[in-house]
Amino acid sequence: MRDWLRQPPIIIVDGHGAVLRDAAGREYLDANSSIWTNLHGHAHPKINAAIARQLKKIAHSSALGFANEPASLLAQKLIVSAGRGRAASPAPRLARVFFSDDGSTAMEVALKLAFQFALRAGRSRSPKFLCLDSAYHGDTIGAVSLGHIDLFHRSYAGLLFQSDKVMSPYCYRCPFNRTKPERADAREYRRCHWECVGKVEQKFAARKKRGDPFAAFVFEPLMQGAAGLIPQPSGWLARVAEIARGHGAQLIADEVMTSLGRAAAGATSLLACHQENVHPDYAAIAKGLTGGYLPLAAMLTTSEVFEAFLGEYDEFKTFFHGHSFTGNQLGAAAALASLEILESPACLAARRSLEKILRDELKTLWPLEHVGDIRQVGLVAGVELVKNWKTREPWPLRDQAGIRVCAAMARRGVLTRPVGNVIVIMPPYCTSAAQARTIIRVLRESIIETLGIKAP
Ligand code: PMP
Repeated sequence: MRDWLRQPPIIIVDGHGAVLRDAAGREYLDANSSIWTNLHGHAHPKINAAIARQLKKIAHSSALGFANEPASLLAQKLIVSAGRGRAASPAPRLARVFFSDDGSTAMEVALKLAFQFALRAGRSRSPKFLCLDSAYHGDTIGAVSLGHIDLFHRSYAGLLFQSDKVMSPYCYRCPFNRTKPERADAREYRRCHWECVGKVEQKFAARKKRGDPFAAFVFEPLMQGAAGLIPQPSGWLARVAEIARGHGAQLIADEVMTSLGRAAAGATSLLACHQENVHPDYAAIAKGLTGGYLPLAAMLTTSEVFEAFLGEYDEFKTFFHGHSFTGNQLGAAAALASLEILESPACLAARRSLEKILRDELKTLWPLEHVGDIRQVGLVAGVELVKNWKTREPWPLRDQAGIRVCAAMARRGVLTRPVGNVIVIMPPYCTSAAQARTIIRVLRESIIETLGIKAP
């Protein structure tokens, strides 16, 4: 906080497309899509017009006990679009939508529904959740309880309920594969035997033995974001989801960052987990839902879950949870416009092309001495800075390598925010080829300037 107080902040006053402008008139490329939210660029004419049209009608009326047009249309649209990943099935599996304000609250909704569902189904008297190591699901207490990033979460340990965790794959630092190929003394490079999947199996088996099986398995599909942009190897999610299902656990997919073409950039499916043919019981969508314009989130679930909350009034079986701004009309109007753009062939083509440009450009960073790993899943990329690429020795957090590199990028007109020492590159889908190349060139120059190494 002292660092923040020491210098005047960059004050953003407007934005168009992938460009932001500050109060001094300086322009920046929005290289992390305004913290992973913006999809089609700032001030998009279609989304602006949709919000303006809605504003002439009404900005907000309560959806507690009432319906409204844009939110109802959006729910229907989400169900149809999310069902597209399940071509073989005639009926959409995710058939119900619960709106809230942001990613954290969408995860709270999933958590509370899954908790009650397990009680009502007689599965457990005290439902427990299995999460991934280094998971991040938001900053509210329920979401923090599902999270396992020590640095963020340990200060609140006394406030949280206990969730269990299991190792998630982090192939770059795989504990089962200690001899790395780039080490000069490497004699043996052990092949992957899916030991991390074995760990998940062990967790479920141990719980079963105790007669208290997990109610649900919680995961970010394809890539864990705040953990450090850590991708899952292809096939991992399908395997662990099958194990969880085999043990009767429900699946909670946190698609707050990964959905809407972000992680599965070249796919037409809304949900990233469909890439692994995984069909969850709960899917939380937020961040980019409104194109990154307004805070609105959706938690999609099944008819089976919905029906567990149906009853006569005096049974009091309802889901006691409702936010003041749930189903907000302006947010829903923005989301409908954003989804229309997202599903256009032009946007799909732009995503595919941007994904490839980023992949090609990022390769140019490999020769840099302090670049340990470059990871990309769709339109999400992370560049892990390390002290020593041969040994993979991490940079101590207190050296602020990531923060300093991002500050150097800002001076050169590119804004992003690191996750520890991982530089996040996650531009809006409208980013041009030239802009994408600028982002990576600026990143390269900033690494060289900040970490004091010569370009090879
Ligand atoms: N889940 C994931 C995977 C996230 O990345 C985030 C935010 N970074 C959240 C949940 C929380 O979302 P929000 O900040 O909108 O509450």
